[in-house]
Amino acid sequence: MNQKFEQLQTHLDRFMALNTAITLFDWDSDTTAPPAATERTAKVKGILANEAYHALVNPEVEQLLNELKGHKDLDEIQTAIVKQLCEDFEKTAAIPAKENQEFKELVSHSICAWARAKKEDDFSVFAPYLEKLIAYQKKFADYRKKEGQTRYDVLLNDFEKGFFIEDLDRFFDKIKQAVVPLLKEQKAKEKGIDKSYNFLCYDIEKQKEFCAWISEYIGFERERGVRSEGEHPCTTNLHRDDVRITNHFYENNLESAIFSEIHESGHGIYEMGISEKLSQTPIGGGASCGMHESQSRFYENVIGRSKAFWKPIYGKLQETFSEQLGEVSLEQFIAGINLAKPGLIRTESDELTYCLHIMVRYEVEKKMINSDYPVEKLPELWNDLYEEYLGVRPQKDSEGILQDIHWATGDFGYFPSYAIGNAFAAQIYHTMKQQMDVEAILEAGELDKIKQWLGEQIHQYGMMKSAREIMKDVTGEEFNPDYYIQYLEKKYK
Ligand code: ZN
Repeated sequence: MNQKFEQLQTHLDRFMALNTAITLFDWDSDTTAPPAATERTAKVKGILANEAYHALVNPEVEQLLNELKGHKDLDEIQTAIVKQLCEDFEKTAAIPAKENQEFKELVSHSICAWARAKKEDDFSVFAPYLEKLIAYQKKFADYRKKEGQTRYDVLLNDFEKGFFIEDLDRFFDKIKQAVVPLLKEQKAKEKGIDKSYNFLCYDIEKQKEFCAWISEYIGFERERGVRSEGEHPCTTNLHRDDVRITNHFYENNLESAIFSEIHESGHGIYEMGISEKLSQTPIGGGASCGMHESQSRFYENVIGRSKAFWKPIYGKLQETFSEQLGEVSLEQFIAGINLAKPGLIRTESDELTYCLHIMVRYEVEKKMINSDYPVEKLPELWNDLYEEYLGVRPQKDSEGILQDIHWATGDFGYFPSYAIGNAFAAQIYHTMKQQMDVEAILEAGELDKIKQWLGEQIHQYGMMKSAREIMKDVTGEEFNPDYYIQYLEKKYK
């Protein structure tokens, strides 16, 4: 092995270990830690974040990276690691260590303030934190901005490399043109579908049992994964052999837990499928947030809401909840899980309105980061946009601007990745169907074939390729949102 790379590896191991510890604390805060732990744990996490910062940002690493950049001796993986580290280094070094630590501590407190604000339905509890988070992100973006970029461009590019305001304005405009008329058509159809079965009382323990089963059915491996509960379903990746997902169960909503389970399992399958050689390196995660979402949404929506998927397993669900579903036919269930209806909550929205929920957040974020929009006026802006795009207006902030955790964790610019992920998934599906009979595979319950295809085409590469490169290699053409529009039109027309 290249000697310089070996020296770099020592720093890298330390950097990865500290980050793994931070991730584990995050998981613990989400699932297990008591509320009173926040203050002390925030301090510990702040110190660890500072250590992680110095493990990467130090003169020795800087020199090694300079020497290794473009070095001919490195193999493909080493080259990709060096390239990624140079980017991480540039991004991290641009922000003073003290400010980075202060920001991390602020995030820990903000999450608690957000949770309390949401619970008490009181935006004013979260507002002062949000104001500080926005101020930090603006300052950080200013440190890193390249010529011709706005602050929000910097943040967008962090989550989805190669996507800027210009691309997203165009993308969302296209989606809006297609979705709004489709949604109007749905209103007429909606009346004939009875979905009341979904809101009956469903025993939580039985839901948990079924979700554990369906997670494994689609390919989440129990030996390398953990399932738990949290306020907000999410996936945490320590490395490919320790992937953790959470879910949230509601007594009066069966769909919520089932589709969250399929969604997070989709994320988990991606992480478990990353090549062994890449795991626990700086390129050992998913290619981008959008690519990650494309995988979770592919499982959740593209196949998970299809009749072919449910045909072999609906009987099991019916058996588990015979009292509630005994009289509900497969056809009725499929119509129910595909019902498009504008609502207030993003995570409970259907495939058709989902992107409109994202567009609201995109417009709000643009105002937050690229202007001096007053924080106290954000809830009203949010409500106005919901009325404009979806025709519904939140009556309380807990169902409005307080519903998502993302801003509390300081992640501005993340939401658009969800919409891009949907579009990636539709384009990937278009290619997959040309190469195999997806419907027959689903009807036969051979989900491993789907997992294998995605693993070979996408998962194994981790971050060796960018999302745009993956799209090109898998589908033979550049990212093209038209496939997504065709997919929605075919499904909802
Ligand atoms: Zn997701």
